[in-house]
Amino acid sequence: MSAPATTRRELALHGGAPVRSTPLPYGRQSIDEEDVQAVIGVLRSDFLTTGPQVDAFECDVAGYTGAEHAVAVNSGTAALHTALASLKPGPGDEVIVPAITFAASANAALYVGATPVIVDVDPHSLLIDPEAVKGALTERTKAVVAVDYAGQPADVDALREVLKGHGAALVADACHSLGASLRGRSVGTLADLTCLSFHPVKAMTTGEGGMVLTDDATRAEAMRRFRNHGIDRDAAARQRAASHYYEMVELGWNYRLTDLQCALGRSQLVKLDRWIARRREIAQQYDEAFATLPEVRPLTMHADRSSAWHLYVIRLEPARLSADRDEVFRALRAENIGVNVHYMPVHLHPWYRDNLGTRPGQCPEAEGAWERMLTLPLFPEMTDEDAADVVAAVKKVIGAFRL
Ligand SMILES: *Cc1c(COP(=O)(O)O)cnc(C)c1O
Repeated sequence: MSAPATTRRELALHGGAPVRSTPLPYGRQSIDEEDVQAVIGVLRSDFLTTGPQVDAFECDVAGYTGAEHAVAVNSGTAALHTALASLKPGPGDEVIVPAITFAASANAALYVGATPVIVDVDPHSLLIDPEAVKGALTERTKAVVAVDYAGQPADVDALREVLKGHGAALVADACHSLGASLRGRSVGTLADLTCLSFHPVKAMTTGEGGMVLTDDATRAEAMRRFRNHGIDRDAAARQRAASHYYEMVELGWNYRLTDLQCALGRSQLVKLDRWIARRREIAQQYDEAFATLPEVRPLTMHADRSSAWHLYVIRLEPARLSADRDEVFRALRAENIGVNVHYMPVHLHPWYRDNLGTRPGQCPEAEGAWERMLTLPLFPEMTDEDAADVVAAVKKVIGAFRL
């Protein structure tokens, strides 16, 4: 059954009653009393930062994902910067990044003096297109950043095939996909370096925070220095050695994650699988509702992987609608549904156009998807009724704009 016809006057955008009386955000953190107590416990302890919680959180995430080493940093962006810096790129080196991602995925290449090379995505999943990577590969390619868009892992096996015989590293931007898997292997064990974010809108949070996962011990050590000014031993190691002496051996940053945040992260991690399962349930509720709505197309989910369901993204069918994405967006916001758009293709940002000479037309699949995409609310504490409101609002708005 398709959505019932609605008149435009019934839309909240045009003065009608909204589907919901209160706004539903597109994402939201879950914090319970255990989380609060975990942070309070650290406040009363000796270490507010770089104490026992950091190692413990790193161990927990390494254990959860199966990665050998985990290096906590203070944002997902810092994780990307730290990961790429560990590859020691030189000027003129290139980092391949898909067009559909948060700008930080590409900005990190700029932080290390490399050039981001923006490539197109697969039109069905909006994941990096291995064929596009093949076309962009040069002698200067230092890394490929595979973004696990919306929570579904990129096909690292196909990417490895493309990179065979080439020295480029595979970096997973897994800011959307902690807890997901590809062909039975967990995110965190798929790429050479895996970057996580613990921003409140992500699967679990430390307020701000991030982590790099790797199986390479030497690289992990270098990344621990990098997050601490490039200093060879941290305060705890000096304490243990009863020594004041340290050396700064390379240029690093202060990217340290605090004990307060790590305690919160540990308390959150034990709930992650339950939250992902709840996200999946809501996504299924959406899938069922939209299966009969030809104006709306969810992303293609591949059968060989599980998603962490960070985002539920739909594409509108412009030929079937009298309104464009932005008008549908405004109409849904007026219905109190917190829709969003992820993301404007990186190469369309003014900074990229002005400084790297990128231009529209460069990544047609990404640009076409961007003009039609909407992100619907999806977070673990949403109720079935909240999800039903989203479906009702989408049907109402689509019904009003159907050609
Ligand atoms: C959130 C996000 C980042 C950046 O993470 P922060 O913790 O906000 O710095 C990078 N890449 C992607 C794909 C993200 O979603």
